[in-house]
Amino acid sequence: MSRVYNFSAGPAMMPLPVLEEIQKELIDYKGSGMSVMEMSHRSKVFQTIADEAEADLRELMGIPDNYKVLFVQGGGTLQFAMVPINLCKNGVFDYIVTGAWSKKAAAEAKKYGKVNVIASSEDRNYSYVPDCSDLPIDDDADYVYICENETIHGNVFNKLPNTKGKVLVADQSSMFLSKPVNVSDYGVIFAGVQKNVGPAGMAIVIIREDLIKEDIDPKAPVYLSYNTHAANDSMYNTPNCWAIYCCGKVFKYLKSLGGLEAMNKINEDKAKILYDYIDSSKLFKGTVDKEFRSLMNVCFVTGDADKDAAVVAATKAAGLDNLKGHRSVGGLRASIYNAMPKEGVEELVKFLKKYEEENA
Ligand SMILES: *Cc1c(COP(=O)(O)O)cnc(C)c1O
Repeated sequence: MSRVYNFSAGPAMMPLPVLEEIQKELIDYKGSGMSVMEMSHRSKVFQTIADEAEADLRELMGIPDNYKVLFVQGGGTLQFAMVPINLCKNGVFDYIVTGAWSKKAAAEAKKYGKVNVIASSEDRNYSYVPDCSDLPIDDDADYVYICENETIHGNVFNKLPNTKGKVLVADQSSMFLSKPVNVSDYGVIFAGVQKNVGPAGMAIVIIREDLIKEDIDPKAPVYLSYNTHAANDSMYNTPNCWAIYCCGKVFKYLKSLGGLEAMNKINEDKAKILYDYIDSSKLFKGTVDKEFRSLMNVCFVTGDADKDAAVVAATKAAGLDNLKGHRSVGGLRASIYNAMPKEGVEELVKFLKKYEEENA
C-alpha cells in the first residue's frame, strides 16, 4: 500500500482509520451478510446507520432541536437552486460575492428572482472579504447568502455579516466541521460532503424548521423541495446510502478526536505551519490578505506561471499530490482539510524549503 499526501480541494482525503474501518466492513457489514452498498435504505440495519449519523452530527455541531438535518443528493451545486426555490417569499435575494462559488450561486439564484450583489471582492480577484457590518440589505430580501470559505480563492469570513434581521444562508462546503459554529446564527447551512467529510455525491443541509415551506413553486421537481426531505427523514427516495454511512464514520472519528474545538486547534496549527513558511519565503507569496486567509485552502504563487508549473510537477514527484492552483488564481493551492495529517503539511513545507534553496 502506498498513499500520497493528497492536497486536492475535493474530493479530498478521508481519515485513514475511517477508510480502514470501512474496508473491514465492506463485504459483510456487522454480520448482516451484505455490504452497505447492497443494503435496502428501508432496512433496520441501514436506518440505524442513518439515525446514528444524524445524532452524531447533531452532537458535534450542537444543532438545536428546531433545525432539521437533511441528506440530499446533487452536491453543493443543487443547493444553489434549492435555496432560492425554497426560501422565496418576495423573490429578492441578497448575495455577498467573495469568490467563484458565491458567484455561481448568485448566477443560479437569478433564475428564480431578483439578485442583489450587496458586497463583492471581485475588484481584487477575491483576495479579501469585504466589511459586512453595515450593508445595504434589501427590506424585501428573503435571505442573505454567503460562501463562508471560498475553496478556489482561499478566503474565509472571520465574522458573519450583519444581516439586519434577515435569514443568513451559508455554503460551508469547504469548512464544514473544521471548527465550531453557532448554528442558531444561520437559517440554512449546507455543505457538499466531498471536501471535508466523505465521498462525493451528497450535501448535508441544516435548516431552521420554520423556513421549510410546503407551498413552493408547483412546477419545481418534488426532489427540490426541502419539505420533501424533511417530511420523509431524507428517505423520500433512495438516498446516497454509501455517503451517509461514510460520513457517519467520520462523525464518530471527529468525536473521538475531541470534537470541533479540538479540530479547530489542529487546523489552526496545521495552517500556521504553512502560512509561516509562505510569509518567510522569497519564492512564494500568499494570494489572500492575511486576516482573511482560509485555514482549509491555502493559495500561494511564485508570480510566474512557468515556475508555478515546475513546482507543482516537483511536488507531485515527491508524493505531494494535487497542489495545482485553480486556473482563476494560478500558482499552488494546498487544501488541508480535517483529514490531512499535520505530517503532510510538515512534509510539504520541508519540500518547498528545500526546493526554494535549490532553485534560488
Ligand atoms: C465544491 C464546492 C461546491 C460544489 O460542490 P459540488 O458537490 O461539486 O456540487 C459548492 N460550494 C463550495 C464552497 C465548494 O467548495
